[in-house]
Amino acid sequence: MADTTATTGPRSTTPSTLIIGAGPAGLAAARALANHGLDYDHVERHHSVGGLWDIDNPGSPMYESAHFISSKTLSNFPSFPMPQDYPDYPSHRQILAYLQSFANHFHLTERIQFDTTVTEVTRTEAGRFTATVTEASAPNEPIHRTYDHVIAASGVQWEPNVIDVPGFTGEVRHSVTYRDPQEFAGKRVLVVGAGNSGCDIACDAARTAAHAEISMRRGYWFIPKHIFGMPVDVFAESGPALPMAVEQKVFGRLLRIINGDVTRLGLQSPDHKLFETHPILNDQLLHYLGHGDITARPGIASATGATVTFTDGSAQDFDLILLATGYRHTVPYAQDLYGDEQHPDLYLTAFSKHTGLYGLGFVETNSGAYRLMDMLAEMIASHIWDRAHRPRQWERFEHHIAHDRPDLTGGLHLVGSPRHQGYVDSHAMTRYLRMVASRMGWELR
Ligand SMILES: Cc1cc2nc3c(=O)[nH]c(=O)nc-3n(C[C@H](O)[C@H](O)[C@H](O)COP(=O)(O)OP(=O)(O)OC[C@H]3O[C@@H](n4cnc5c(N)ncnc54)[C@H](O)[C@@H]3O)c2cc1C
Repeated sequence: MADTTATTGPRSTTPSTLIIGAGPAGLAAARALANHGLDYDHVERHHSVGGLWDIDNPGSPMYESAHFISSKTLSNFPSFPMPQDYPDYPSHRQILAYLQSFANHFHLTERIQFDTTVTEVTRTEAGRFTATVTEASAPNEPIHRTYDHVIAASGVQWEPNVIDVPGFTGEVRHSVTYRDPQEFAGKRVLVVGAGNSGCDIACDAARTAAHAEISMRRGYWFIPKHIFGMPVDVFAESGPALPMAVEQKVFGRLLRIINGDVTRLGLQSPDHKLFETHPILNDQLLHYLGHGDITARPGIASATGATVTFTDGSAQDFDLILLATGYRHTVPYAQDLYGDEQHPDLYLTAFSKHTGLYGLGFVETNSGAYRLMDMLAEMIASHIWDRAHRPRQWERFEHHIAHDRPDLTGGLHLVGSPRHQGYVDSHAMTRYLRMVASRMGWELR
């Protein structure tokens, strides 16, 4: 266990690091620390690994019809491919099984303290961190442990971003509470928001609700999950690397050929170039719109009783409004240390200006996140290792954390919504991380 004395500097005899959360990010952090021979404590409030992919983890945003949005080929952790018999886009249960086998394979599971919640992390005067930890077996007996390093890997899709629909007297729920299409049976349902979850859930409603509609404030690009028989990300990676402006033009044209003019389906034209919002990978929504099983509407203007009026003047009665309006990226046990709730103040999405404080899983990007997570985990572990073994290199990177502010958008003019604050292009991010790691003498997989 960690020291409870407040001395400064790292030690080699007791864990100096706490990892919070055993979802994909926490597991990546644990593997990286173990690879570096660094000791750590690892706590998880649920009783097993997998994070939000465990539909039974209380408060998880997972729903029965959820599948991976990025394909299995490009979404695995380095050196641990997904099973060959997995489909291109695995189901949430398959992703959970993959994460559990990852944790078991690298002997991470036995080192996790389950049913253990971090309720607060504060900084000591000596620059260390005191974590208040509660075990489910003794909820009224909080334990205080002090660490040199804390890695928050507690996820960013737990705190719903709820919007108000004043005047509406029907049921209003956030998608975090949604599990099963049968919840829609016999109801007139309006899904608000066209992120990947919103589109999935709208398709569930198209199949099971008495009447289904989806409201989106702007037009989007809808990217099919397969192109020419290949998962779309594999297809995109198989061609030559093109400048972003050319890629936007070529793929934009291809999508117009494949989807045609989506305004014929009641959708709005995109008001931005391709890739300037988080990609929506969904071909089913266009299918259901084309079959009249769901209706597309613009944003909500007002509501009275059961009637919702949209910004184009159209109106419809609903029993249920399901808000697929995203999440706030909170760190509830240490918000003052991490800063902004939507976009925590972290260099390269991982390194805090508070020495010894890290975050993993905060990267918002246009590809599968696990490879970036793994690179960042290795960099965090290397930085922690440097603190004890290469102090000059450690100081050099502390200077980077304080002063380096790279543009990682890859030339994308992202729309100005909260979701895209701090959003990075995965190619630009990968290139930059590799460049930094190479300068620091750190090895990445
Ligand atoms: C429907 C859906 C589809 C997605 N599809 C993809 C995809 O195709 N590709 C992709 O790369 N990403 C996808 N994602 C993104 C997803 O966020 C990541 O895959 C991943 O689960 C995030 O991992 P994480 O470890 O950061 O967080 P989480 O999976 O949220 O795990 C955080 C863990 O921390 C624990 N925890 C939280 N607070 C505390 C505390 N105070 N004390 C102790 N433990 C705590 C939680 O119980 C949880 O186990 C998808 C997300 C959703 C919702």
